[in-house]
Amino acid sequence: ALQCLANQATHKALNAFIVCADPADVVSKIEHAETLPASAQGPLSGKLIAVKDNICTTDLPTTCASGILQAFTSPYDATVVQKLREAGGVVAGKTNLDEFGMGSHNVNSFFGRAQQVDRAGNAVSAGGSSGGSAVAVATQQCWAALGTDTGGSVRLPAAYTGIVGFKPSYGLVSRWGVVAYANSLDTVGVLARDTAAARRVYDAIRRHDARDPTSLPLRSRRRILEALAALPRHRRLRIGVPADYNIAELAPAVRGAWARALARLAQAGHAVRPVALPSTHHALSAYYVLAPAEASSNLARYDGVRFGSRAAGPDGAPDGALFSRTRGAGFGAEVQRRVLLGAYSLSAAAMDNYFIQAQRVRRLVQRDFDAVFAAPNPLLEPEEAAQRQSVATTTTIEGGDEDAAGVDVLVCPTAPSLPPNIAELEKQQSPVDAYMNDVFTVPASLAGLPAMSVPVRAEGEEHKAGIQVISQYGHDDVVFEVARMIE
Ligand code: GLN
Repeated sequence: ALQCLANQATHKALNAFIVCADPADVVSKIEHAETLPASAQGPLSGKLIAVKDNICTTDLPTTCASGILQAFTSPYDATVVQKLREAGGVVAGKTNLDEFGMGSHNVNSFFGRAQQVDRAGNAVSAGGSSGGSAVAVATQQCWAALGTDTGGSVRLPAAYTGIVGFKPSYGLVSRWGVVAYANSLDTVGVLARDTAAARRVYDAIRRHDARDPTSLPLRSRRRILEALAALPRHRRLRIGVPADYNIAELAPAVRGAWARALARLAQAGHAVRPVALPSTHHALSAYYVLAPAEASSNLARYDGVRFGSRAAGPDGAPDGALFSRTRGAGFGAEVQRRVLLGAYSLSAAAMDNYFIQAQRVRRLVQRDFDAVFAAPNPLLEPEEAAQRQSVATTTTIEGGDEDAAGVDVLVCPTAPSLPPNIAELEKQQSPVDAYMNDVFTVPASLAGLPAMSVPVRAEGEEHKAGIQVISQYGHDDVVFEVARMIE
C-alpha cells in the first residue's frame, strides 16, 4: 500500500485521480489495520481501493468530472463505499472519468483526460469512462478500483490498460449513492490486476440493498445460487463463440488473441462452438438511443438550484434563463450532445420511431442471449424462459457435439482494436467513432448480463487485448470460473 502512495506521486501526469486521499490519513488507516488481530480483519483489510468519482463519498468530493459538480461533496457514502470500508478497505481517492460516464476514452473530463503512455512515450487512450480507475490499477497506484459500467465503461478501459474489468449482473450490486447516468443500464463494477483480486472486491460489495429499488431481492439471489450450486464441479463447459462478433473491422491482433483464448479453453477439454446472436448488430444503435434518453431525464436535476454550480445573474427570470445559463456553462460538449439527443428521442414527434423502437431492439437482444444459453433466464417465469430456450437449437449453428442445447458462456473480444493513440483520436475521431468502440460491450449491458474483460497477449504488440466472457443473468460465478482459465 505504501508503494501505491509512492506510485501516485510518480504517475501524477497520467491524471488517474481527480483527488487522492490524504496520504497521512491513508497511512494511519493502514497502520491501524495492521494492529488488528486476524479475527478482526476484513477480507479487504488495509487494501487501497480507488473509487470512480461518480460514486458518493463523504470524505472526498464527488464531481462526476463535470464542471457543474466541481465543488460538490456528498453528505453520505454510497452503499458500495460503505461495504468496502466495512471489509477493511481504504479509499485511495476519486478517479477520473468521462463526464457523468459519457465517453469511451476518458477525454471528456472537466479535469483533463486520464491517459496511459506507451514505451515510445506517446499518450494512449485509457479507455472510458472509468479510465482513471483503470490507469490507477494498471500503474499500481492502488490495489483495485471501483468503476461503473453502463455500456462498457469498466470493460473497455480494462481491455485498453491490460487489466481485469468485471461488470456484474444488473441489480446484484447496489446503485445507492452512485450518480445516475442511465438507471436501467448502470452497474458498479470492479477493476483489478487479476481475477482473484476482482473476486475479493466483488464479494464485499455483492449485497442486497433495500435503498436501491432495483436491487435483486434476497429470495431471487438464493434461488440463483441454489441453481448454480447444483451444477457439477468439474464439468465440461460449453463455450459459445458469437460468429456475429467476427466483424471486418476487428484488428488482426485482437482476432489472434481471441483465437488464442479459445484454443486454451479447448485444450482444457471444454467444448467450443459457434453461436448466432443476430440482433447484436442493432444493439449499438439501440444503446445510443436509450442511454441518452435516460441521461436527459437524469441530468435535469443539475439546474443550478439544488445541486452544484450556478451561473451568475438573477434567479427569478421567468424564461428559465438561469437553468439554461447554468447548464450551458456547467456541462461539457458531449454531455450537452447526449441531453439534446435524449430530449429529442423522447419528444412526442420522435418517440415512436426512436425510443420505442430501441426498447424493442433491447428485448430482441435479450431474447438472443436467452436462446443461446443452456441455463434458463432466472428473471423470467419458468414457462417463458423455456419458450425462449426452445429456439436455442435453431440458433446454435451446426457443429456442436452433445445435446446442442445452448452454451454456458460466450467468449468474444471486448473492443474491436487495441488502445488508439490520443493523437490519432484527436485527428480523426468523430463522436460516432467513439461510440463504435462499445460495439461488443453494449449487448451484455442491454440484457443486464455479467461480463468480464480479461487481458490476453496480442502477438507482436505492446498492449494486451481484452477478451470478454459473458454468461446468463446471475451466473457471475461462471464468468469468474472461465475468466480464470484464460487470464
Ligand atoms: N461509452 C459508453 C457511453 O458513452 C459507455 C459509458 C458507460 O458505460 N458509462 O455511453
